[in-house]
Amino acid sequence: MRALVISQPNAIGMRQIEPQPMGSDDVIVRSSAIGICGTDLEILNGLISPKYVRYPVVIGHEWSGVVVDTGDNVKHIRPGDRVIVEGLVVCGRCESCRNGATNLCEHYDQLGFTRYGGGAEYVVAPGRNVHLIPDHVSHEAAVLVEPSATVLRGILRTPMQPGWTAAVVGPGTLGMLAIQFLKAFGASQILLVGVNDEQLEFGLRLGATSAVNSTKYDAVQRVRELTDGRGVDVAIETSGSADAVKTCLEACRYGGHAVLKGVAGEGKQLTLPSDFIMLRDITVHGIFSYTTQSWAAVLKLLAAGLIQFEPLITHRYPIDDFALAFHHLTYKQGVIVKIVMTHGSAKEGEATT
Ligand SMILES: [Zn+2]
Ligand SMILES: [Zn+2]
Repeated sequence: MRALVISQPNAIGMRQIEPQPMGSDDVIVRSSAIGICGTDLEILNGLISPKYVRYPVVIGHEWSGVVVDTGDNVKHIRPGDRVIVEGLVVCGRCESCRNGATNLCEHYDQLGFTRYGGGAEYVVAPGRNVHLIPDHVSHEAAVLVEPSATVLRGILRTPMQPGWTAAVVGPGTLGMLAIQFLKAFGASQILLVGVNDEQLEFGLRLGATSAVNSTKYDAVQRVRELTDGRGVDVAIETSGSADAVKTCLEACRYGGHAVLKGVAGEGKQLTLPSDFIMLRDITVHGIFSYTTQSWAAVLKLLAAGLIQFEPLITHRYPIDDFALAFHHLTYKQGVIVKIVMTHGSAKEGEATT
């Protein structure tokens, strides 16, 4: 079968690969749509720790498809079901898994990193990793469940309450998702901080109440002005720069909550006064990946129409145009939220009746 493969850093192409065998607890999914993100770019550029990738990598950790076969032990999913698939394959036995922190499973294994991802025409996945896509949601929009599950997990770690104020630092895909979740949670203000006016305007259309361009204003001062000098109850960092982490912490009110989701990259240092977090009684939540619970929570909000993914898809390509898709992801001109590629052989809606 054909697959989009990064055979080694800086080498990507469509290749013929061997199909995988299906175990009795597995399903085979024909991949329909694949979202790409900065992490795929890091795999391409060889910037991810070898702990998390194994080349050659069949990419695609944000993807959806149609079930074509199920193992004997899989009862909750049938051929023809439209599905999305959790990428983390957890052991269920290690100390982290037993504590419920499956995102920290000590035996790291993930579709699109160490196993075939949605860039393959057919993907074998454990049945327990598979979730049904709500009927009104397209395969393309459904790929956003994966990044959403990390963002929502971050918000659920805070005691977020209706009427609270929030800041989102970084108006990329994760930031746009954070805006929608905060809205669903009843935030009274959502202040979006970024460096690109077009992306900030896009965020305002999605529900941010104010935008702050940190190249033109002192972002922290602006956040304080907009919150009667207090700072926000919850600040979420999604951009992945050390400066943005500092902004996020400084934007919090006394007793506020900072959610750190962005990846700044190995070797990046953060400099803060040692007493800053203590004196302000700030709670910092580091958010690494997702759990099955956070996937299920995203799907409930999506099924109820409380969040919308369709407006976030700004670019669509057939998978054979992967070079163009990665070019856009690299050079980011104009508004870019989610870039989705589709397999030619698995059109939207096929085999869904
Ligand atoms: Zn991603
Ligand atoms: Zn484990």
